Amino acid sequence: MRLVIIGGDAAGMSAASRFKRKSPDSEVIVLEQTHDVSYSACGMPYNIAVPKRPIDDLVVRSAHVFEQKLHIDLRLGHKVIRIEPEGKNVIGQSAQGEFALTYDKLLIATGASPIMPDIPGTDLPGVMALKRLEHGRAIKEYLAEHTVDRAVIIGMGYIALEMAEALRASGIQVAMVKPRPRLLPWMDHELSSMIKTELTDHGVELYAGQSVQSLSAGPKGLQVQCSETTLSADFVLSAIGVKPNSELAQEAGLDLGPNKAIAVDRSMRTSDPDIYAAGDCADAFHLVTKERTWIPLALRANRAGWAVADHLLGHEVDIPGVAGTSVFKVFGLEVATTGLSAKQSSEYGFDPRTATIESVNQAHSYQGKTEPIKAHMIVDAKSRRLLGAQMVGRGGTALRINAAAVALSAAMQVDDFCQCDLAYAPPFGPVWDPLLTAANQVLKKL
Ligand SMILES: Cc1cc2nc3c(=O)[nH]c(=O)nc-3n(C[C@H](O)[C@H](O)[C@H](O)COP(=O)(O)OP(=O)(O)OC[C@H]3O[C@@H](n4cnc5c(N)ncnc54)[C@H](O)[C@@H]3O)c2cc1C
Repeated sequence: MRLVIIGGDAAGMSAASRFKRKSPDSEVIVLEQTHDVSYSACGMPYNIAVPKRPIDDLVVRSAHVFEQKLHIDLRLGHKVIRIEPEGKNVIGQSAQGEFALTYDKLLIATGASPIMPDIPGTDLPGVMALKRLEHGRAIKEYLAEHTVDRAVIIGMGYIALEMAEALRASGIQVAMVKPRPRLLPWMDHELSSMIKTELTDHGVELYAGQSVQSLSAGPKGLQVQCSETTLSADFVLSAIGVKPNSELAQEAGLDLGPNKAIAVDRSMRTSDPDIYAAGDCADAFHLVTKERTWIPLALRANRAGWAVADHLLGHEVDIPGVAGTSVFKVFGLEVATTGLSAKQSSEYGFDPRTATIESVNQAHSYQGKTEPIKAHMIVDAKSRRLLGAQMVGRGGTALRINAAAVALSAAMQVDDFCQCDLAYAPPFGPVWDPLLTAANQVLKKL
């Protein structure tokens, strides 16, 4: 059997490795348009923060290992330009010219691409985005080769926030701009204001509520024309979000789902039974709403890759879905979320009740200073099911969200969650974990 995989990062290489290990006689060919495979995109902001650290430190497993140890036929610099499902062919371009390849089964694992704002000047030198390793490499080179004192980041999502911290670590003055007035609009206001304070305390200028209208080059560097002000910059990062790379699938006539991600079933099969899709290019089912959704995150890309391999090996695969569980750091603050926000819950027809509580990261009896943790919980009044949770705080806040993520997987009612036997010792938190305190508060509103 010949499995052809388009895309050699998280989803593609997870599928390739798992399938080849368990089916060594099968032929596995991975076509990757760049010269990078299997790297940690998530580590890029932290790598950029340390100019001396080589960007290739982010490579998890080298091409050599895939080729020599796993006997995967990895073809770097091979960009697929067309899929022909009738003849089971892929057509592409490499340095040697056009190539064609037949497949028995095909996996599309093409990921996502950064969205660039539709304004003049995005092609100017020093205007960049961050998605693939080659982007990270280009940003590092640019920062090393130019005097960058001022940076403007367009967008205030998690990649924008991580990059603000990375640039400040090199002493670069950072201004962030976005059109909507609220920072992280999906987040409870009390929690997002902690992040706002953290950013301004670290010297980041925030211009929320302003759209960027154009970028231009002048004698003193780049000019970022916003709706109410003009900002000067030596470097501009566009971080306004990503879109799924689903054009190949669309042109091949495959069904698309939300955000034009490739529609897949719970075994990662597309509308063509011989073609799978996994990772950022594909959609998924939401654990809470049960509807199709598009949430581009790393674990689900890896898991979807494994699921494809298992299904090809003849196992039954029925991935229940994603909850959008994610964590990130903004300077000293840890930010965590899982499931739906209150607004999303209403939009999906739930009757949300919420509580926002303030707790601490360690017991008062323990030595040293306690730090505040804010937790926000959302519960459906009709079913009493947990719908989502958010947390912001210091010193061990982030991974506490996993308790709520597990509760969402188990479709738990808040009454049962309140009885969960979560861990306690003074160095790690108060007796009542912040999520339990939040759950007890929501209970009072049901
Ligand atoms: C800066 C940053 C920080 C992040 N931090 C986190 C985090 O903390 N936690 C988290 O869960 N997620 C994080 N993510 C998201 C995570 O990296 C992605 O969800 C994950 O990489 C998706 O893997 P993938 O294999 O689906 O796609 P990708 O990693 O995008 O890989 C797709 C591959 O396909 C190749 N390709 C595309 N089109 C073609 C073609 N036509 N022919 C051949 N090859 C093609 C691309 O070159 C690429 O190598 C972060 C992302 C970024 C950019």
